[in-house]
Amino acid sequence: MVLGNIKEYTKELKEQFKERIAVIGDAPKLAIIQVGNVEASNRYIKNKVKDCEEVGIIADVYQYPEDITEIELCENIKLDQPHYDGVIVQLPLPPHIREKAVVAAIDPEKDVDGFHPDSPYAPATPGGIMKYLRACNFDLTGKDVVIIGRSNIVGKPLARMMTDADATVTLCHSKSKLSKHVYGCDLLVTAVGKAGFVNCYPLHMPIIDVGINFDENGKLCGDCFNTEGRDVTPVPGGVGLLTRAALLDNVIEAKARKCLKRG
Ligand code: NAD
Repeated sequence: MVLGNIKEYTKELKEQFKERIAVIGDAPKLAIIQVGNVEASNRYIKNKVKDCEEVGIIADVYQYPEDITEIELCENIKLDQPHYDGVIVQLPLPPHIREKAVVAAIDPEKDVDGFHPDSPYAPATPGGIMKYLRACNFDLTGKDVVIIGRSNIVGKPLARMMTDADATVTLCHSKSKLSKHVYGCDLLVTAVGKAGFVNCYPLHMPIIDVGINFDENGKLCGDCFNTEGRDVTPVPGGVGLLTRAALLDNVIEAKARKCLKRG
């Protein structure tokens, strides 16, 4: 098996984060912006706050009503962000608020989700995956990687990062001839969002399962099935943990950069 235990890895990362904050000597501060009251968002935010508390980051949640206007929301973000090292907006936003406008309202230096093109931070999911592969000593140089799913938050940035790490990346989507690409690759990443999408039985390469789905019994699962005896990251307890850890990493980095600037 090439891929290591993600639970142990992220536990260790959190210990390192605590130490980094102790060295900085001042708790980093994160603002989490939420619009409305979507149940899944509430759950994600609860986890983020819990993670922050665990390592010593102060996290404040700003929950705005569903009917707040885009202008009002952006103005509030601009007003509050000077008090924070990092600012994130929990997606999805209601349809009348453009994600692009909200991202533009955040100071790129504080955009710890890495959504703004000028943000110095890697988006959490692809950034977390890259760091994890390095920790597993999985050298991407010269490797053939197939990524299924070309979203702006996972597939596309991950393809760019892996290309920069000297892998040859094939970015697949709903119109791709998957079997032509998948068999024989050195690493497969699935970010589709469909339970039971990838049958791992005939696949022998390491697989990173990004998908978060529910099966027919309402149980949380990834995109992959028949994972027994295969080198596949689990769901739950897999990429979700890497994403959560990568956000903490970015917030601490934002604090460190601010301290350096003040220097
Ligand atoms: P998305 O939902 O925006 O898009 C899905 C992608 O899958 C598209 O690019 C589409 O072309 C591709 N696709 C759909 N059907 C396909 C098919 N039949 N064949 C090939 N490709 C197909 O993507 P997303 O936002 O990256 O989310 C994907 C999944 O990853 C979701 O389950 C999401 O919840 C999960 N996710 C998990 C984390 C995490 O931290 N674990 C982070 C982000 C997203």
